[in-house]
Amino acid sequence: MSDTATSTYLGHAARTPVIACHECDLLQRESAVPPEGVLRCCRCRATLYRRHANSLDRTLAYALAACVLWVISNAFPIVGLAVNGDLVETTMFGAVRVLYQDGMWPLSALIFITTMLMPACQALGLVWLLLPLRLGRTPYRADAVFRTLRVAQEWGMTEVLILGLLVALVKLSHIASVVTGPALWSFGALMLMLAAAASVFDARDLWMRLEGVPDAGPAFDSGTAFPAATAAACGMCVCHDCGLLTRVASAQASDERDYANVHASVRLPMHPAHCPRCGAHLHLRKPDSLARTWACLIAAIILYVPANVLPVMDTSSLFGAQKDTIMSGVVYLWTSGSWPLAVLVFIASVAVPMLKILAIGFLATSANFHSTWQPDQRARIYRIVELVGRWSMLDIYVIAVLTALVQFNALATVRAGPAAIAFGAVVVLTMFAAMSFDPRLIWDKRQPE
Ligand SMILES: [Zn+2]
Ligand SMILES: [Zn+2]
Repeated sequence: MSDTATSTYLGHAARTPVIACHECDLLQRESAVPPEGVLRCCRCRATLYRRHANSLDRTLAYALAACVLWVISNAFPIVGLAVNGDLVETTMFGAVRVLYQDGMWPLSALIFITTMLMPACQALGLVWLLLPLRLGRTPYRADAVFRTLRVAQEWGMTEVLILGLLVALVKLSHIASVVTGPALWSFGALMLMLAAAASVFDARDLWMRLEGVPDAGPAFDSGTAFPAATAAACGMCVCHDCGLLTRVASAQASDERDYANVHASVRLPMHPAHCPRCGAHLHLRKPDSLARTWACLIAAIILYVPANVLPVMDTSSLFGAQKDTIMSGVVYLWTSGSWPLAVLVFIASVAVPMLKILAIGFLATSANFHSTWQPDQRARIYRIVELVGRWSMLDIYVIAVLTALVQFNALATVRAGPAAIAFGAVVVLTMFAAMSFDPRLIWDKRQPE
């Protein structure tokens, strides 16, 4: 991860391709990246490109391993409980089905999508794209598969599931003796394979192999300055899926929307075009970014109240019924001696959602008022929010496993409470809020030096 390959703004190397930063929209000339080197934006320090030796072959190997592990993970039980000589076991799909039968279908859909469907799309999408390339053929509909892969990487949450399973194991070990199933280990391996594949995968290398041309934006003569500092001000647009810089149909005055945030002189339609390479929607700035962010955020704030006040879990046993809120679950873990897990669950389920709501609210407010305050710090906050938000799903997975396993009619039964749905909605809504916020708004009011 050398930093020596940092791009130089307005460099003078001959025929260097021009790229735009996906976070702050600054145009810059690309400099050569050594193997395992990183190219960073010279203004906001966002990672523009990371080069790996043998990227595509390594990705294919990891993805094939992930496919096998996915099958094992879903065919075998994850955990079992031994009570009075009986062994109750559950697979991941079993947990999804129990929640569905309990009438918690939004929750079971969320768990099915994030732990089974999206990881499968991640692994299969990579194999679909890379295996034909390895065999010297062209993958069918590479553009659509590539965009699906992008969505799958955003919503596949195997790493959070693993942590959730560990918390569930500790909670279950207070009830009865726990038997770990083969799927627990293979889910762990699946997580590692998917993470390795995602970090080694080089989308630019893929598109270069597919199209046979280097990934270069519109040509500028080397040595001359750009007509303007940002891509939008030059009438260009960077694709958020594949990173291609394209010139959008030049200023069409027919559209009345004035990009006051961009440059008063540039008027462009809301959806200038589709990316010529991967077919994704291109827009200078995400459409109605702030309005959408606020809508998701306000809905999340409203749902945050029932998520914390109502019970997430109803436990009924011989000793009576008990309703647990998120906070009382944390207190239970703390008092029963597993304080590291109590801290973990508190951070994931209470602190992260609240801080995320505050952080996105702050970013959206400062963009609303066209603030020029500390854009690099705000860009950092945005990156942390994107990175950390998914970990709040932890409690949802814990509840799913407990509900699936603790079903001893007379002795003890665990059911998901209404707060679980509200809490799942808060996590999804804050993720949508962060996705609809356009980080380029942070930089738009600032004139680059
Ligand atoms: Zn940047
Ligand atoms: Zn594209």
